[in-house]
Amino acid sequence: MEIVLSGIRSTGHLHLGNYFGALRNYIKMQDEYNCYFFIADLHSLTTHPHPDDFHSGVKTILAEYLASGLDPEKSAIFIQSDVPEIVELYVLLNMIAYKGELERTASFKEKVRKNPDNVNAGLLTYPVLMAADILVHRAHKVPVGKDQEQHLEIARLLARRFNNLYGVEVFPEPQAFNFGSDLIKVPGLDGSGKMGKSEGNGIYLYDDEKTIHKKVMKAVTDAGPTAPDSKMPEPVENLFTLLKIVSDKETVDHFTKAYNSCTIRYGDLKKQLAADICKHTLPIRERIDDISNDSDYLAKVVRKGREKARASASATLAEVKRAVGFRSF
Ligand code: AMP
Repeated sequence: MEIVLSGIRSTGHLHLGNYFGALRNYIKMQDEYNCYFFIADLHSLTTHPHPDDFHSGVKTILAEYLASGLDPEKSAIFIQSDVPEIVELYVLLNMIAYKGELERTASFKEKVRKNPDNVNAGLLTYPVLMAADILVHRAHKVPVGKDQEQHLEIARLLARRFNNLYGVEVFPEPQAFNFGSDLIKVPGLDGSGKMGKSEGNGIYLYDDEKTIHKKVMKAVTDAGPTAPDSKMPEPVENLFTLLKIVSDKETVDHFTKAYNSCTIRYGDLKKQLAADICKHTLPIRERIDDISNDSDYLAKVVRKGREKARASASATLAEVKRAVGFRSF
């Protein structure tokens, strides 16, 4: 069975973009692939989170993963720092990753531009750690968005370079993976662009009903269509995109008709949208609370995930170290 791997950084909460854009597909993938899902706590250290927040960040994402439907009986769900083989492979891959190629990655350049006072070596070698995450399980497929394609290219480059340098076939070249239908982009409610953590426009799985209503009611719109069947401006189109994601067909048809006949009332549309978002997220929110309070369950999940991930990672590391020339006395 092909191996699929995906990770998420342990900062903040999951938003609708993460859920509808990624997680919902992961849940389906679990039945068809040998899946590894991990929480990238080491990656989150580039921004120096306060020690008090570090563990709670991991716990939050873990509980939200599980509440969304990732199943520890089907997939390995683990914490990156629980698998020391990742760090070991990271060190070895750093020896064949060149400063120039890392400096040229778009994400590094952007981070340097945004945070010129914290250009640490971990930031430069971020894609190498990502490559280690992927290659340590010899993953075939990595579900990534467009923004991550360059990082995946580096993982392929390092896999190839390692295999060539040592004359081995240890690593397959991981491919970007789009499971099922087309990738959807969940828009933000601030008029343009996608929903995102750093964009500050997220509706989170953990938001309560009141917060969701408030956020949706504040969404940017316009004065309304003035001619029948006119083209929607982007902010209005974004509301309809969200509606198509969370509501049933009749609801979408109803508001589309109202827009096309210029009788639409955005207030009604927003109320319906908020209610339909809640229908998806409130049961998840309840599960997040239950799971967060169940320390025994969380410990069991993490232990099981660690065992499975370490078994796979240590088998790879043994081959890697043999290839490099490590020998025991
Ligand atoms: P991030 O929170 O940006 O690290 O993204 C984690 C996962 O969620 C990635 O697979 C992203 O492609 C996906 N994702 C994040 N934001 C959105 C969005 N607005 N629409 C669709 N997918 C998204």
